[in-house]
Parts: sequence; C-alpha cells; structure tokens
Amino acid sequence: MSMSRKEFLRTTGKGLVAAGAMAAAGSGSGYAAGSRPFSNGGFKVDYKYKRLTLKHAWTIARNTSTYKDNVFVRLEKDGIVGLGEAAHNVRYGETLESTYETIEKAKPLFEITSPWHFVDLGEKLQKVCEGQTAAKAALDMALMDWIGKALEIPYYRLLGLDAKKAPQTTFSIGIDTPEVIRQKVREAEPYPLLKIKLGKDNDKEIMEAVRAETDKTLRVDANEGWKDKEECLREIEWLAENGVDVVEQPMPVEMLEETAWVRERSPIPVIADESVKQASDIPKLAQAFDGINIKVDKAGGLQEALRMIWMARSLDMKIMLGCMVSSSLSITAAAHLSPLVDYPDLDGHLLISNDPFQGVEVRDGWLILPDRSGLGCLGEF
Ligand code: MG
Repeated sequence: MSMSRKEFLRTTGKGLVAAGAMAAAGSGSGYAAGSRPFSNGGFKVDYKYKRLTLKHAWTIARNTSTYKDNVFVRLEKDGIVGLGEAAHNVRYGETLESTYETIEKAKPLFEITSPWHFVDLGEKLQKVCEGQTAAKAALDMALMDWIGKALEIPYYRLLGLDAKKAPQTTFSIGIDTPEVIRQKVREAEPYPLLKIKLGKDNDKEIMEAVRAETDKTLRVDANEGWKDKEECLREIEWLAENGVDVVEQPMPVEMLEETAWVRERSPIPVIADESVKQASDIPKLAQAFDGINIKVDKAGGLQEALRMIWMARSLDMKIMLGCMVSSSLSITAAAHLSPLVDYPDLDGHLLISNDPFQGVEVRDGWLILPDRSGLGCLGEF
C-alpha cells in the first residue's frame, strides 16, 4: 500500500513536527517560532531616502562626491521591524529614482508573501528587480533582519558562523592631493590596514604621500584605471615592492584577457570588483582573477552574497567583502558574513559624519558584531 508524503510524515515522530509546521505555514492558522505566534501574510513596507554627509569629498578613478542619498527600507509585521539600506551605484545604472521605482514595484510581493518563505521571496524579487541590485539588497537585508529578530537570534548565528572569526578590515583612502592624503592617513591611525584608491595619473604621488606617513600593509583599488597590460603589470610589481598585498580591478571590465595576462605574472593576488556583481558572473572570471570583491549592494542582498561566497570558494577563489558609502545598517549587514571572507573592506560608515545607526564596531581593525537579534542595529531613519 502506498502512502502519501503527508501520511508518511505523520507516522514518524520527527514527521509529526514537520507536518505540523508545514500545515501551519500553509494554512490559515499562522506559524509559531519559539514562543511567539505569527500572523499569515506579508509586510507593511515603508521607505525613504536620507542624505549621508561625507567627512571628506570622496574621489575614486571614476567620480567625486560629497554626499550619498541612500534609501532606507522598513518592513513591519507582527510588531517586528526589519530594516535595510540601498546605496545606489551609478556605475551599474542605478539612481535614487530607479531605486524608488524598484522598491515600489516589489512592494506588492512583500505585502502578500510570508517572510518564512524567504528563499522563494528572494527568487521572485530577482525578477522584479532586474538590474537594480541596490533596491533588492535593501529589501533582502530588511527581510533577513526581520527573520533574525523574529527568531530572536543574531543573523550570523542563523548562518552558523563564529563572529570572532572575521579578519581585520581595511580603511579606505580616496584619491586626493598629497597634503590631504597625508592628513587622511594620519586620521586613519587606528586602522592597521589601509586600502588606497589609485587609477588616475597621480598614483606615484599618492603612494609617496601614504608612505611618508606609514609603513602599514596596503591594498590598492585601481577601479579599472589602468588601460595597458604591460604598464599595469609594472605598476603592480612596483606596488608589491612598496608593501601592497592585494590589487583590485586593475583594468577595465572589458579587458578580461589582458587582466588574465597580468594575473599570471602578478606577484600579488588580483581581485575582481566591477567585473562581478552576482554569482552567475563568477565562473568566467576564475582564469583572470585570484578572487572577487562581494558587496551586498551589488549582489542584491545577503542571500545572493552568500551564494557568491560558496561559489567563489568552490572555484578556490579569494573573497574580499566590500561596501558602498553607507550607514552602519548596511555595513553591519555585510559584517555578518565577514567570518567567511579573506579581506573585509567594511568602512563605508566610517566615511560619513551623520550615521543614523549604530551596529558593528571597528576596534584596531577588528569587526565587533552586535549580539542583538537580526542585524542588531540600533537607530531609525
Ligand atoms: Mg573596488
């Protein structure tokens, strides 16, 4: 006599719990996690932008900015609030307006779907947010914050991670005049590792200014700034001799073959940033790069960032965990993944002067995660 899956589950001790939970999640009776009962249905969704002011004008090879208008998302259900942040990136065709539009399009999905089906929700969200990863990241971040808060555990614990295992983070120094670079390096005294932005025509000048102030280990991000493979290699060799241990996105995205040529000869690991957004981008980069820079913002959330981590690991690639200029909310979200990476670069909140949130702390470069539920951030927007 054959038995249906449901009947089978009911006849086993373990199955009784599973079948009960399945019935509760799928029927009209709601779902209970721990001692707390939860209603069916989705979230109340709110969002608005807040202007984050930069301490110093921020210049990289591509552009300069003095502020960032990030969009903050609030998901509320059963008295629990999940928060997320969208830092749009013009490099990927995102604007404040497109971020608003995308969240507005995704809103109905969040209003009707149960948060407990967060994997399913993430898949559906992917279709709505095509190409708009900052908005998607904010929604996914808020969702994961809510799940952690509902289960009353920190997000890193939900992932089975040891918060103490995160390596030290770098602190970034944007492109500037030698005088300002020297001042920035002095201000960065508490951080043992610095990431230097290069890729314009003053690389030597910047490196000299940095080295006049410190002998710390440096990492360099060229933001696609070097366009000739032989010059690029000479530059990397010179940087390696000057205490640089990693170089990020030396050449433009479209120069993949040239980058592979450089990587083969480079004395230090070459990491992809602009070349990689999501997990599906990774396999084709494994020849040209030693590793990838994952950002929750460009990945489109914590769930996709995790997928990227596992995929990169399976290809034996190194992982940098980067960020945009953003508040402690976004940086803390990323920091929950930091025990899984080689090179955390989570300093975006340290570059602003009006952080509305309090979350991960950086002490001597070590990331100290809050042990509160969810992402563990305090503050509102
Ligand atoms: Mg970069």
